Amino acid sequence: MQEKAQAEFEKSLPISREDFQKLFDYLEENLEENNCDNSLALTKQFWETNQIKNAEEVENWLKENGGFCDCEVLYKMEELFEKYIKLKI
Ligand SMILES: [Zn+2]
Repeated sequence: MQEKAQAEFEKSLPISREDFQKLFDYLEENLEENNCDNSLALTKQFWETNQIKNAEEVENWLKENGGFCDCEVLYKMEELFEKYIKLKI
């Protein structure tokens, strides 16, 4: 049951886990210096720097999962990833 949920979660990811990890690191680093301005500005900067092609799809995915600004992306997505992916290890 749990394994199935994990597999489905992984399948739903619009970019690779590695890219998400990079995004989290990027946000962590930058949110220390700049407060979240209630937008996805840093997240969008990351797309541009890393030439993520399906940025729109990723943004929709993030919003579906409760990430409406940079700090929410960081905290809510890390929670999700912990719940679904780190359990596997
Ligand atoms: Zn925020």
